Amino acid sequence: MAGRLALVTGGNGGIGTAVCRELAAQGYRVVATCIDARAEDAAGWQARLREEGYSVGYIECDVTDITACERAAAELEREHGPVEVLVNLAGITRDKFFHKMGAEDWESVLDVNLRGVFNVTRQFVAGMRERRFGRIVNISSVNGQSGQLGQTNYSAAKAGMHGFTMALAKEGASKGVTVNTVSPGYVDTSMTAEMPDETLERIVSQVPVGRLARPEEIARVIAFLVADESAYITGANIPVNGGLFCSF
Ligand code: NDP
Repeated sequence: MAGRLALVTGGNGGIGTAVCRELAAQGYRVVATCIDARAEDAAGWQARLREEGYSVGYIECDVTDITACERAAAELEREHGPVEVLVNLAGITRDKFFHKMGAEDWESVLDVNLRGVFNVTRQFVAGMRERRFGRIVNISSVNGQSGQLGQTNYSAAKAGMHGFTMALAKEGASKGVTVNTVSPGYVDTSMTAEMPDETLERIVSQVPVGRLARPEEIARVIAFLVADESAYITGANIPVNGGLFCSF
């Protein structure tokens, strides 16, 4: 594992930052994506992590733009070598009941959460297959398993990730490339902070563990899946939801 290059899309977000810390602490060379216009924020984010003792890079890349993904991948591999670990975390919500949802709400959520996974993953799979090693983890959601009102767009995108993961896992299995999904429940990040207090309280009251997840609790599972030793886990979905939705 020592020194493997890990790319984390949405790495400067709530869960992403925890993933970057965890992987850097384990000796991976970690690079996060940031959206072009927000590069200054990313520089500040990187400086804060450096003060905490974590060395993490970032690269500008809007995951909805395949040309930007191609450019970022080429730059990354030219400067740092092959990406061996990919964590697809970039995601957004645009919640609305379906009868009020516009095409833009639908498309923007599908674009970031699902098309973004294609745009980024497509850059690295051939290389992973050639080198006979790769770890891809896609971050879905409990709401991609159980559905959630106000989230037909998000639930569709996150459910789509499961199909993508299982199919790509089968393609990569004989080439040392594992592909898995992690499905968090509700995590304490800006994404849940945007929800109305009463909605969040109602949801938390339904979580058997009785609280939101901490981002670090998601990061631990991702780090487990990308380890060299996790070679036999592929095509799996790991729910990390405090018991909110149980299935087998
Ligand atoms: P955040 O909003 O904190 O992080 C989302 C990240 O995605 C940010 O870094 C954001 O960048 C990035 N991003 C958004 N759009 C793009 C884009 N077009 N190109 C590149 N990056 C983009 O949310 P979380 O950390 O909570 O969520 C991370 C992932 O986990 C998401 O996929 C989310 O759906 C999933 N998830 C979250 C749950 C939760 O309860 N928080 C529960 C289940 C799943 P920027 O900050 O610059 O906008």
